[in-house]
Amino acid sequence: MAYEGAVALDEVAQLNARLRDAAPQEVLRAAVERFGARLALVSSFGSESAVLLHMAAQIDPGITVLFLDTGMLFGQTLDYRKQLAIKLGLTDVRDLRPRFQDLALHDPAADLWKTDTNGCCQIRKVLPLDRALAGMEGWITGRKRFHGGDRLRLRVVEQGERQIKFNPLANWSKAQIEAYASEHQLPAHPLVAFGYPSIGCWPCTQPVQEGEDVRAGRWAGSQKTECGIHTPRAASPVEVGSDI
Ligand code: SF4
Repeated sequence: MAYEGAVALDEVAQLNARLRDAAPQEVLRAAVERFGARLALVSSFGSESAVLLHMAAQIDPGITVLFLDTGMLFGQTLDYRKQLAIKLGLTDVRDLRPRFQDLALHDPAADLWKTDTNGCCQIRKVLPLDRALAGMEGWITGRKRFHGGDRLRLRVVEQGERQIKFNPLANWSKAQIEAYASEHQLPAHPLVAFGYPSIGCWPCTQPVQEGEDVRAGRWAGSQKTECGIHTPRAASPVEVGSDI
């Protein structure tokens, strides 16, 4: 059952009222208890990902973790994803890759990011995630309000495209993230030391200067601030499940 309509919205409002000031671990437990195997945690294995992954592993190491391997990630991210999953004991990390047919038709030279970042993200992120979430009723994200932009108004529980979304770290500050990582001796993504506070695909990620927003290095110099997995789906020439 997909979560749409008045009943689901009632549940979202009730969950948000109950969890909006809760500790992240309490939010995670509520999500696991409510949805069990029909729940996924979506992680970029980026600069702050270890905190939420560690919390989730303490509650259920078998939780489904979805990782978008766009084909454009830094090699350091791919290494970090493997090492961190092993260290935390996560047993169900799934690598989501773009569909070959979509790449062959829309991005055969792997340079779509130069001319159409939204189209590139659609093929390499949005569609693979939508396919993986098709059987899910809830998903967990690592977004925080301090990231700014549209995230300033982020709720702890919200209605997603077809699922209920949980944002356990929505209320947390950068200092709280760093303190938790330090307390639990979580390994940092290797690019953090080189000035990358937010890490996505290599063509669209730059290091930032001291004092700049955390996400200032993402699609720098363009209006784009989000890849599209968290925004309402627009009509697209490439659809979920299409066999072009
Ligand atoms: S972040 Fe850049 S390279 Fe990655 S999918 Fe989006 S446009 Fe393509």
